[in-house]
Amino acid sequence: MKVFLNPGHAPNGQPDPGAVNEETGLRECDVALAVGKAVASYLNAVGVETELLQSDSLHEICETANSSGADYFISIHCNSADSPAALGTETFCYPGSTNGYKLAGCVQQQIIDAMHTVDRGVKEAVPGKNGLYVISNTDCPAILVELAFISNDHDESLLAMKQDEFAAAIARGVTDFQIIS
Ligand SMILES: [Zn+2]
Repeated sequence: MKVFLNPGHAPNGQPDPGAVNEETGLRECDVALAVGKAVASYLNAVGVETELLQSDSLHEICETANSSGADYFISIHCNSADSPAALGTETFCYPGSTNGYKLAGCVQQQIIDAMHTVDRGVKEAVPGKNGLYVISNTDCPAILVELAFISNDHDESLLAMKQDEFAAAIARGVTDFQIIS
């Protein structure tokens, strides 16, 4: 089994750091990369092969993933909202993808269990409506995890302090999925 990991946004935030917490300066691109690298090492430790790419080019990400031989694709992001009260975790999958939905559910549940945060659920990213490029343009079952809201004080501290726990939860979600699939 091989998992392609895509930490969201551009390496070193150039040109796109993703969402940034205005008070602390915590950047989505940095959280996503740290979590993605840790997911890779947790998965490698249990015999799951990984490949990781963070890139500003969504096209490059999908091309690389599609030629990588990966069985599953996981994109890692932080959420953000105008309302500072919005918080919690949600995971997107492609509509109608049975394995995508199952994998999303396993990862979502492990993060909720580990973080005791608000469960915003597994959601379908519907092309033309709320579609997500990396989910729509990857060949294998693909999910996009919104770890927590970088714009919320409580979630921001989780994203700053609990990167390793987020990563372990994602890796456990993958191994849970291996068992049920
Ligand atoms: Zn993002």
